[in-house]
Amino acid sequence: MYEATPIVNGFPGKTETHGSFGWSSVWLLRGFDRVIIVETGPPSYLPLITTALSELGLGTNEVTDVLITHAHWDHLGNISLFPQARRWIGRVEYEWALSQAPDEPFVSQPLLGALSHPQGLLRLIDGESELVAGVRAHNVPGHTPGHLAFAVDTTEGPKLFTGDAAKNIHELESVAVDSAVDRGLGARSVTWIREFARNTGSSVVPGHDVECELTGHGWQRRSEQRAEIQFFHRRDAPPARISLSDAELGPVAVEPFPPECGMPRPSINEQANAE
Ligand SMILES: [Zn+2]
Repeated sequence: MYEATPIVNGFPGKTETHGSFGWSSVWLLRGFDRVIIVETGPPSYLPLITTALSELGLGTNEVTDVLITHAHWDHLGNISLFPQARRWIGRVEYEWALSQAPDEPFVSQPLLGALSHPQGLLRLIDGESELVAGVRAHNVPGHTPGHLAFAVDTTEGPKLFTGDAAKNIHELESVAVDSAVDRGLGARSVTWIREFARNTGSSVVPGHDVECELTGHGWQRRSEQRAEIQFFHRRDAPPARISLSDAELGPVAVEPFPPECGMPRPSINEQANAE
């Protein structure tokens, strides 16, 4: 069994003017004499990760393994922080990412290169398998071709780390994915994730949201989603602050997607059968 701790909770937001925030989920697993980081977040997380680990009495040198669901920059951003850790990623995913052109918007070739430095630590996962005791990889393609999810036995029960195969609670609920190299395949993977959670009692840690669970009232977040933004509004005033927390947004946070999101909301069956 692993003790699972969120290091930085993912947040399901994106800018419409300045590219992606990349606010993804980073978790720590401790057990079986291993210290495992699940995903490394965007580069801006660096101080958050080192501070959180230090508060738990851990140095980045003590991390033994890093699990990567897929090769996008906002999941690989701090791979170099863990010089002793084995780096686990799907072989299909790694080879696909290496083949992408430098202008592919979500694959950073320098970050990808960091996976194989220092040498000898890269571990390519071939399909569904147990990586280390209590951690199993599952294929959930669609967002990217070789995307993996990781099922972990924890002291709080089983958890499934889905990366961007299910980015947030809305995708879990709607089975519609808004960014994928193959949206039909992505919808099938979300359907699989929902069935896995139902059959095993697993909670789900999406790629860009707090931990979620399936309840009698549908999918629920296990903790509050929260993000704070400061900006300089006037030259003669201190920075303004926007809180994107459930508590301060109140009912707005639970409204359905506005139409301008462009998210398809077909039935589950239609999505599962989509190409
Ligand atoms: Zn992604």
